[in-house]
Amino acid sequence: MTAETERKIHDTLSRYFGFKEFRPGQEKLIDAVLSGRDCLGIMPTGGGKSLCYQVPALLLPGVTLVVSPLISLMTDQVAALRENGVGAAFINSTLSEAQYAATLRGLRAGEYKLLYIAPERLELDGFRAALADIEVPLVAVDEAHCVSQWGQDFRPSYLRIAPAIASMRRRPAVAAFTATATERVREDIVRLLGLSGPEVLVTGFDRPNLYFEVRTAKNKDAELLRLIDERRGRSGIVYCATRAAVEEVCELLRARGIIAVRYHAGLSDNERASAQEAFQYDDAEIMVATNAFGMGIDKSNVGWVIHYNMPKSLDAYYQEAGRAGRDGERADCILLYSGRDAATARYLIEHSESTDAQADIRRLGAMIGYCKTDLCLRGYILGYFGQEHPVRCGGCSNCLNSVEVDITTQAQMILSCVERVKARLHYSVGRRLITDVLRGEMTEKVMESRLQTLSTFALMEGVSRSKLEGYIDRLVDRGYLAYNEFKALYCTQKAAEVLFGGERVISFERAAKPARARRGGARAAAEALEPAAPAHKPSYDSEALYDALRRVRARAAKQANVPAYVIFSNAALQAMAERAPTTRREFLEVPGVGEKKLESYGDLFIDAVNKFLQDNS
Ligand code: ADP
Ligand code: ZN
Repeated sequence: MTAETERKIHDTLSRYFGFKEFRPGQEKLIDAVLSGRDCLGIMPTGGGKSLCYQVPALLLPGVTLVVSPLISLMTDQVAALRENGVGAAFINSTLSEAQYAATLRGLRAGEYKLLYIAPERLELDGFRAALADIEVPLVAVDEAHCVSQWGQDFRPSYLRIAPAIASMRRRPAVAAFTATATERVREDIVRLLGLSGPEVLVTGFDRPNLYFEVRTAKNKDAELLRLIDERRGRSGIVYCATRAAVEEVCELLRARGIIAVRYHAGLSDNERASAQEAFQYDDAEIMVATNAFGMGIDKSNVGWVIHYNMPKSLDAYYQEAGRAGRDGERADCILLYSGRDAATARYLIEHSESTDAQADIRRLGAMIGYCKTDLCLRGYILGYFGQEHPVRCGGCSNCLNSVEVDITTQAQMILSCVERVKARLHYSVGRRLITDVLRGEMTEKVMESRLQTLSTFALMEGVSRSKLEGYIDRLVDRGYLAYNEFKALYCTQKAAEVLFGGERVISFERAAKPARARRGGARAAAEALEPAAPAHKPSYDSEALYDALRRVRARAAKQANVPAYVIFSNAALQAMAERAPTTRREFLEVPGVGEKKLESYGDLFIDAVNKFLQDNS
């Protein structure tokens, strides 16, 4: 990248969006787009895909078309761009005849740098004719995985994008974006969108601002209420496995006076739309939903996602949990697990129309593994997606609440027992029988095969069954043991390292007292990692200021008729509360404040800060 380009894109970033630095991958993609190349950006939800085409759109001549699958998402994106002083518009079925005509006039007059459209629009002759005289250097395709039938969100209209682009007078560059990582979907995108020699950029899947926790809960309702009580004032999503559970949980919350809305496939379109809107606009604090509440939720200030039930796969879990913290703020992803969830999930898979139940069961296995593992939860997820990661992240419930225990001896006993049983029987057996042998249980099966004569018989007498099973799970997690297709345990090659190579096995046991501070979750995790920023102002309560600024933001949002996060994200508001800007220059320094936001809201918020400091000194 030339120094000139670099300067230009940084200028645009700070002037319009108020950010100083790019997120990983953004700069590289922007550079590729600006040089006219097709590209495919694969980034996790909240990774900042939008900027990758919004920044180029501002620097390129003409207007950038953005193909987006969902109307609500378009509306909000356009509102947010306008708040940043960027000329933008959308065309979709909600526009009246007159609004449509006005938008086309604006388009011809060059008022927009970005035009959001639904894919169907590209097929309409009227629209194509309107485009004919307009310079379109770039077409950005959002949620590009919708073109693939392998994904869950297939939209036939996405197949029409490539022919439509091919028929344009000058072929624009095409930039496709998705959060879906599988190889198959990726290939489909390149082929079906007709990308030519694209720059493919896959950023890491880590979301450092998310805190992960699994809780095994006997009484989920009580646990849920407790977790929500700790998080009042931040909006959140409760995901449930079934419609019935959504209804029950929503009632439970409402009975406690919490403003919650619900969303599942059994409700009418109207009910669903109004629930989504209430949540989006912060009129309802909590959304209780099945996985039908999914793609296209563009609410960036979701502070937590709690899973009342375990989902069917880690892919689904990460996608749903990932809806928290898109604004980069610390956010909590908590899963309430009970053994019954696994049975329910298995039942749902067996009674679904899935063509590949075997694969579904494997994915479920990885999900259950996540719920039971003692390893770093973040590491477990990243490992599942094939990404390198440190052993410990230091910021998930397993890393924060556990102590290291050396279980090498136990591991050696278990592994050699598995070996000996196999040597005796010439086939592998399940966890149950291995546990019986180690505990010295004279069961029918044991006696039948004379396993009581093995040297490992009763080697771990007195160790409880659940404890022993836990050890075995640990060894499976670490890849020393594995299950074959008959659910029988066998030793992998790695096992030899422990048996003969002197390798230690460390388990992470739950600490007696959680290391987590009372405030809990991501906040505490963040504080454990980094000391609080020193206050630049005479001492004041930044949390109280944050609350005051939230009220100012809510009023401004009502007035502008946009969701609160379109005015300022929680991250921006948090930074504002920490810095307490009292001058326009200080205000502009706040991340998320660009020139237009300074103009529109500078005085309003600076006044609020001044008033707060006065009242509280
Ligand atoms: P995605 O579409 O990948 O899910 P978005 O484009 O909606 O993510 O971005 C998520 C959030 O991250 C938005 O609130 C956006 O303002 C913020 N963001 C994006 N890029 C940056 C950046 N370079 N610095 C700070 N915040 C950013
Ligand atoms: Zn961790």
